[in-house]
Amino acid sequence: MSIATTLTQAPVVVDESKCIAEKGCTVCVDVCPLDVLAIDMVKKKAFMKYDECWYCLPCETDCPTDAVTVSIPYLLR
Ligand code: SF4
Ligand code: SF4
Repeated sequence: MSIATTLTQAPVVVDESKCIAEKGCTVCVDVCPLDVLAIDMVKKKAFMKYDECWYCLPCETDCPTDAVTVSIPYLLR
């Protein structure tokens, strides 16, 4: 029997319809202590570049348009 460990979704998801990175916003990238968020230079939207997260939440609380959602794993709540 195998035990699945692969995440089906990155813990941090950016709603691209709300993200205003194309207007110069980089707040979530700047506040992340792990530097795991980045701006996609083609789409001009923020995204989770590295699938690692401390669930510290400033990216979600500081985003001016509420575009960031951090999914905290059940066991950490
Ligand atoms: S803080 Fe919000 S609006 Fe700004 S780049 Fe990040 S996701 Fe986009
Ligand atoms: S919750 Fe913290 S570690 Fe995770 S992406 Fe946001 S700022 Fe970075």
